[in-house]
Amino acid sequence: MKQISVIVPLYHEEAVVEKFYTALKKELVQLQNYTHSILFVVDGDGDNTVNILRQISEHDSSVEVVVFSRNFGHQMALLAGIDHAQGDAIIMMDGDLQHPPSLIPKLLEQFEKRNDVVHAVRESTEDIGFRRKFASQIFYRLVNIISDTPIIEGAADFRLISRRVADIMHKNIRERNLFIRGIVNWIGFKQATVPYIAAKRAGGKSKYSLIKLVRFAFSGAISFGRRPLRIASFVGSLFAIGGFVFALWTLVQYYLGNQFPAGWATVVMLLSIFGGLQLIFLGIVGEYVGAIFDEVKARPHYLVQEKINL
Ligand code: UDP
Ligand code: MG
Repeated sequence: MKQISVIVPLYHEEAVVEKFYTALKKELVQLQNYTHSILFVVDGDGDNTVNILRQISEHDSSVEVVVFSRNFGHQMALLAGIDHAQGDAIIMMDGDLQHPPSLIPKLLEQFEKRNDVVHAVRESTEDIGFRRKFASQIFYRLVNIISDTPIIEGAADFRLISRRVADIMHKNIRERNLFIRGIVNWIGFKQATVPYIAAKRAGGKSKYSLIKLVRFAFSGAISFGRRPLRIASFVGSLFAIGGFVFALWTLVQYYLGNQFPAGWATVVMLLSIFGGLQLIFLGIVGEYVGAIFDEVKARPHYLVQEKINL
């Protein structure tokens, strides 16, 4: 019998965790041919989530829990899940019931067809606010414009990965600026997609604010390629050529004996354009330096405060 591990990141989810567990368990016990374990990664203590999980794990030995020492972020929680999960197939999903457990048999069906990665792709979301929908669209557009490796629009962190992919993540892909959505596409192998309709959050509030989402998009793009740097060099050289032509023209004017002090407006405009551009590109370079800084320090990806049933 094959084993599947379901990994679930939780950040202050006391309002939904029990409901989620019940719904997931109901689905998992129906699977023939598979044994299962559920690995909750608590990404920062601070509410009742851990206590609820402690009670659940007393009755159900298939429930395992890793508690972080603080909030390390969604991607690190998933990485910790991948590091600790033992299954032949690993399914990662949100703990707020937006990712329906009823999709699991379909993911497994594709896994049995020898796919190493099965993406669950959101077709639409029930009752999602306009702002949120807009934010999500901008997110995928932005990432796909700036990053080199395309990501699938609507493919959030709900997917199945094989043991082989999990081992690669565990051993070889240890980026601090981790963007799993991009990485799984970069890894390759045979991949499939399964559509689903995302449900409304079963309780509690979203842990991703608009600002956090934009930051996530940027860090994803930066972690994923050098295209922003290339754009910076391209626009930079374009302006440099323009500047060179302009300088030449000025020189010619000078030797033709034209009077100068006019042209104050031109100087001011050029100064502000170049000043602005330089600051933007300095910022882009700074983002990469920051990312390199994080890697060079080589701190642990996350710190574990407590493990239950592991
Ligand atoms: N999450 C996490 N750490 C964070 C933010 C979120 O572990 O810093 C978890 C959260 O508990 C949930 C999942 O990641 O299980 C998705 O987060 P959320 O539902 O808030 O995001 P949304 O669905 O609104 O994009
Ligand atoms: Mg959610």
